[in-house]
Amino acid sequence: MLFAMKYFSGIGLAAPQVGILRKMIVVEVEGRITKLANPQILRVKGADVMEERCLSVPGLGVDIVRPYEAIIKGLNEEGQAVEIKAKGLFARVLQHEIDHLCGKLIVDYLSFWQSLKFKVKALR
Ligand SMILES: [Zn+2]
Repeated sequence: MLFAMKYFSGIGLAAPQVGILRKMIVVEVEGRITKLANPQILRVKGADVMEERCLSVPGLGVDIVRPYEAIIKGLNEEGQAVEIKAKGLFARVLQHEIDHLCGKLIVDYLSFWQSLKFKVKALR
């Protein structure tokens, strides 16, 4: 997963994106690599908007409002329970990847008209 993420110049990847049907994510922000299994968002705080892109939806950028801070629990590579306090971009990428595990993509944040415009563009 880490190889695939780096190969496609991503900063996060969820297992289902590469055909692995497991609740696992890998994130790399500011040189810190985080690997989590069964990640769950425990608490969130604040709000922030940023354009997000996704390896699964090439060519689309969507402004998404997300909590600025998030406390996330999961299992690390050794199978130990960990709790991560994340802020800013790190929190955003973790939340984006957890969305993938719930079957949610950045296109699901588009308004009806934005979504229609994207679909028409994709048909061309
Ligand atoms: Zn994505």
